[in-house]
Amino acid sequence: MTPSNFTAKVVLVDIEGTTTSISFVHDVLFPYAKKNAGNYLQETWQTKDTKEIVKNLQQLPQFAEYVESLESSSDVDQQLITKFVSYLIERDLKVTPLKTLQGLIWAKGYAAGELKGHVYEDVSAAFQAWRDAGLQIAVYSSGSVAAQKLIFQHSIAGDLLPHLSAHFDTHVGHKQQSESYTKIAQSLQVEPQHVLFLTDVPGEADAARAAGMQTIILQRPGNAPLSEEQKRDHVLVDDFTALLKLKPPSE
Ligand SMILES: [Mg+2]
Repeated sequence: MTPSNFTAKVVLVDIEGTTTSISFVHDVLFPYAKKNAGNYLQETWQTKDTKEIVKNLQQLPQFAEYVESLESSSDVDQQLITKFVSYLIERDLKVTPLKTLQGLIWAKGYAAGELKGHVYEDVSAAFQAWRDAGLQIAVYSSGSVAAQKLIFQHSIAGDLLPHLSAHFDTHVGHKQQSESYTKIAQSLQVEPQHVLFLTDVPGEADAARAAGMQTIILQRPGNAPLSEEQKRDHVLVDDFTALLKLKPPSE
C-alpha cells in the first residue's frame, strides 16, 4: 500500500521526530528550562504553584539521594532546589514535578517570544489539507498535553493549535503498549481502523497496529535509522507531502 492510498477519519500525530525535530526538544527546550530554572524559582518562590512543585520535588526518592551525595548539609532553599532541578534534567529523569516546572518555564518563554515551537515546513500545509478534507487531527506524545499545546500554539509556522481536536500524553498509557491506542480510539469515538498514526518509532507503530490502527513511519532528518526489517515491515515517508491527498473513507 502506498501512502496516497490511505484513507482515515483521524490523523494521530506524534511530535518528536514526526512534526518536530528531535533536536528541538533536546537542544532547545531542555537547555532552556535548565538555564531558566533558577530565575523562575526566584521570581515565583512564594507562589502557590511553585510551593507545590518544591514540596513534590522534596518527596522524590532522588531528592534524599541527592542531599546525601552533597559534601556538607545545607538548608532546603532556592539554591538547593535549583541545583536539584539541574541534577534531574542532566540525568533526564522525567519525574512529574520536574515536568510541571519545565512546562511553566516554557510557557513563560513562549509567551515572551523567546521560544518558538519547531515544526517541519510541510506540517502546516498538511494540517490545513487534512482539515479541509474533513479529517480530524489529534496528537499523542510523551510530552505533557500542556507542552504539546505550547509547541503548536507558538510554532514557527504560526498558531497551529486550532487544527488540533484532541491531545493525549502518557496519562493514557505508554506509547509502546497497544492498550493506549485502544483507549485513544475510544476517546475519539472512532473505529481504530479509521485512525492513521504517524510516528518515527517502529515500536509505537507496532503497538498502534496491534490496536487496529493504520500506521506510517516518518524518516525525518535526525531520526534514528531503521533496520532493513523495519523498513520492509512498515510504510515509510520522508515528510507529510505524500499524505496531502488523504481523504476520509467512502461509506
Ligand atoms: Mg517521536
